[in-house]
Amino acid sequence: MNKSTEKREEGQALSAETIVAHDAVFPWGAVAPPIYQTSLFTFSSVEAMVERFSGKTDDPIYSRADNPTVVEFEKKIARLEGAEAARAFSSGMGAISSSLLSQAKSGDRIVCVKHVYPDAYRLFLKLFPRLKIQVEFVDGTDLTAVERALPGARILYLESPTSVVFEEQNLPEIVALAKKYGVMTMMDNSWATPIFQKPLACGIDLVIHSASKYISGHSDTVAGVVAGDKKWIEDMNERVVPYLGAKLSPFEGWLLLRGMRTLPLRMKQHQENGLFIAKKLAEHESVAQVNHPGLSAQESPTLQGYSSLFSIELKEHVSIATFCNRLKLFKLGVSWGGYESLVFPMEVGVRQAGKHNSLVEFGVSPRIVRLHVGLEGVNELWEDLSDALKDS
Ligand SMILES: *Cc1c(COP(=O)(O)O)cnc(C)c1O
Repeated sequence: MNKSTEKREEGQALSAETIVAHDAVFPWGAVAPPIYQTSLFTFSSVEAMVERFSGKTDDPIYSRADNPTVVEFEKKIARLEGAEAARAFSSGMGAISSSLLSQAKSGDRIVCVKHVYPDAYRLFLKLFPRLKIQVEFVDGTDLTAVERALPGARILYLESPTSVVFEEQNLPEIVALAKKYGVMTMMDNSWATPIFQKPLACGIDLVIHSASKYISGHSDTVAGVVAGDKKWIEDMNERVVPYLGAKLSPFEGWLLLRGMRTLPLRMKQHQENGLFIAKKLAEHESVAQVNHPGLSAQESPTLQGYSSLFSIELKEHVSIATFCNRLKLFKLGVSWGGYESLVFPMEVGVRQAGKHNSLVEFGVSPRIVRLHVGLEGVNELWEDLSDALKDS
């Protein structure tokens, strides 16, 4: 066992703060990982090539499958999630579709909780019927409904908290049900990040992230990653990774490693800023409801903290367009998880996506506005929101 492997294995028990700060040992003792900006890797002899192709070594061959900068990112995510292995993708959707397609086949049924990320929802509605994979949506907060749907299903797909309305599932209880019926579980953990929630520790089989969000933290890359037991990741490697080809580029792997240095620190500040703003909004006369897991009366069995993405429902007399247009620090845009505050009138976003296109059809109020609270001065952020709410 070489020195870097030894370190990595000890690293499993380390805190997130230490994991993000330390890497493998790189050539020349470089403290920042090199960007291996190369498509292929050459061999010194035919014998070395034969050894590699027969699986005796794991040297990189081609960057569609195993670029060392990307591998370093994958290892870091695996350590943060407490997983045996991880696999990076060119987007969160690449990670989601590759995970599902590595396990589901024609004739299978997938059970999915309501209000998942809208493009995952549309993947289920648009692509999967063409592959003859059936999808059944259930209310993830209703364990009786979940249990009714599970017998005979292939995969239970979760996202906790969900998109748009930020509803939590009780993961230990839902996992126990899935195990009872032998159903594999996959979960989107982009909202909480491994800093605030560790799905594998409560029995989820595969954890999925849009790394474009908090993991990157700088709104400068689109990426995804999946972590879990080796056998699931090997299934992905054998069945989908080389053929779908949704690989992460070395430069983006490097950006993610750099962004992750401050992930634990950023999450603490996002939590503080998000809760501050959410509580203020909950008391505001123009706000009908605040959907933030930190304001829920029930204590979460798995969340160890809260990120700063949540939604509000504005009262009927408030014009959503006027409110959004008046904001100065909260910029209008999709995505979230960066340093900057964002506002997103959900109805507009869902409508532009064509069919299956209204929040009502998605099962939520059309008066929902999503907020991402960034790392700016929190008093200025509140001033921005309360000014915009005046006379909107
Ligand atoms: C953004 C997002 C995704 C998709 O990720 P991309 O990197 O944009 O492909 C998946 N899940 C959730 C919860 C998201 O917010």
